[in-house]
Amino acid sequence: MNCDDAQLRLHAYLDDELGPVESAQIGQHLDQCPNCLPVYRQMQALRAAVRTRTAYFTAPEGLETSVRSALRANVVEGSPRREVARKWLGLGAALAITVVATWSLTLLLSAPGEQSRLLREVVSDHVRSLMARHLTDVASSDEHAVKPWFNGKLNFSPPVRDLTTQGFPLVGGRLDYLHGRPVAALVYRHRKHPINLFVWPAPAGAATGERTYAREGYNVVHWVGGGMNFWAISDLNRKELQAFARLLRRPDVGEPPVRLVPGAQDAGNAPKK
Ligand SMILES: [Zn+2]
Repeated sequence: MNCDDAQLRLHAYLDDELGPVESAQIGQHLDQCPNCLPVYRQMQALRAAVRTRTAYFTAPEGLETSVRSALRANVVEGSPRREVARKWLGLGAALAITVVATWSLTLLLSAPGEQSRLLREVVSDHVRSLMARHLTDVASSDEHAVKPWFNGKLNFSPPVRDLTTQGFPLVGGRLDYLHGRPVAALVYRHRKHPINLFVWPAPAGAATGERTYAREGYNVVHWVGGGMNFWAISDLNRKELQAFARLLRRPDVGEPPVRLVPGAQDAGNAPKK
């Protein structure tokens, strides 16, 4: 894909109107192209500015009163009723235009919500990692090799657990870019199906419940735990991906980053009374 092709599609890319393959191609081009990335960033900034500084037009104070008194004056002066009707019609038309303008602006701004934008990015990153055959920067099933690999590359340390004995071997990890920030991508496999698990810190008070989505033929499970956002995506069926997510959420599987439940049963290596 060349720059002309990429830039032609940037608006559609930003508006979530492209298919996953095309979207991934654009993303890939943006990763490598010093010309198109600034153009894309500018579009993003413009969109953000429009969103946060939405123009609202409030009728000036006293408009209603002056309209009423003008009307009354007309009536009092005995001018034809048609004149009055015309004034009201004009006011009505102006109001209608304002309403339509506000309504279309609202539609334009609220079309893809934040969550759906993020979901689209998750799908694109997943597809891109498969297309580019660039699943891992560090290939290892050893959590003690994968976790330290992120040191100095991210400003947080993602929890890494191997789930080989549960049927989801850890394959490795890589750096990725999501939601406007670098994130950890942990790669697992179940049978032949690759799973990308994106991890980055969650804001305080983020909802922790599990959410499942289906998008472009992929299943996605999202949850928040231990202060981290988790997004798991795969072509695995929904049940298996949910099982994977639940294994990761269990504090007694693999190596928990923090022991949350004192005295909880673990794999059996704790001394028993
Ligand atoms: Zn370019």
